[in-house]
Amino acid sequence: MTRWGPNSSFWYPKEGGIEVLPKGLMAALDPDRVQLDTEVNAIDPTRQSVTTTTGEVFEYDDLISSLPLPVLVRLAANAPEHVRAAASRLRWNTVYTVMLGIRREAISDHHWDYFHEDQFTFHRISYPMNFSSTLAPPGCSSILAEISHSSYRDLTGRDLVAETISGLKLAGVLRDDDEIVFAKVAPIAPAYVIYTLDHESAVSTIVEWLTEQGIRTVGRFGEWEYFNMDQAIGSGRDAVRAIEGEPIIDLVAAEADELTVMSARPASH
Ligand SMILES: Cc1cc2nc3c(=O)[nH]c(=O)nc-3n(C[C@H](O)[C@H](O)[C@H](O)COP(=O)(O)OP(=O)(O)OC[C@H]3O[C@@H](n4cnc5c(N)ncnc54)[C@H](O)[C@@H]3O)c2cc1C
Repeated sequence: MTRWGPNSSFWYPKEGGIEVLPKGLMAALDPDRVQLDTEVNAIDPTRQSVTTTTGEVFEYDDLISSLPLPVLVRLAANAPEHVRAAASRLRWNTVYTVMLGIRREAISDHHWDYFHEDQFTFHRISYPMNFSSTLAPPGCSSILAEISHSSYRDLTGRDLVAETISGLKLAGVLRDDDEIVFAKVAPIAPAYVIYTLDHESAVSTIVEWLTEQGIRTVGRFGEWEYFNMDQAIGSGRDAVRAIEGEPIIDLVAAEADELTVMSARPASH
């Protein structure tokens, strides 16, 4: 069997969707010390405090932030001009996700498909019901289409649900008589880091200053790298290990070793 890429095989929760991962981590924490659905609107590294939009102020000994770097710099009261300038050089795109429920079973047996041609608004569609049968009611199918948006591709005012449905019909995924029982659009912003030529210097200027302020940044947009979930979680784990003086595991190198092992296997495996 030919195995293409790092995600040619993957694990997925049987029930509850991918949200079971954060829920599983949450189960190990003291719920009284966790505050969800709360927006941070100021960080004062000098006073070692974080303020939320509800006006609550939290003091900290160590601050580990997974906020996107441009947000973190904007909120940090004392960020100097050269750090703010570095943050303004970071580039990213937004992805609009279009979620559809269709009253027809098994519209595809794929996990996901890529669409490179210009006539499709979306670049990827996936079929959550094929990750886990609990991700669509009986007799139905589910689709998630991803549509990228940036200053190079402005989608303002476009009807993304209608464009997704017509694209899916063009691709032969949907039929003209298919009944759409659910449709929702949700933006992910930022979605992907764009690697510009000064990515490395901008990120190191910001992280250097944050480190001086006693702030550790973790995760996809805290490290400003193309991390998947495992790397984002590993990044947070390593920050805690660093505070506790424990050794850090280089997850990227460990994954590279894993890939080497996989590609060294005989093709029949
Ligand atoms: C379209 C798409 C498909 C993907 N598919 C996969 C996949 O199949 N497998 C995989 O492993 N990974 C996938 N990823 C990557 C995965 O989503 C990320 O690696 C992961 O979400 C990173 O987690 P994080 O906690 O670092 O960042 P995020 O999940 O971005 O979390 C940062 C959080 O900060 C919050 N925040 C921002 N500002 C504030 C504020 N002022 N106050 C409080 N909170 C704030 C945001 O709301 C957000 O919840 C995909 C990503 C995208 C965009």
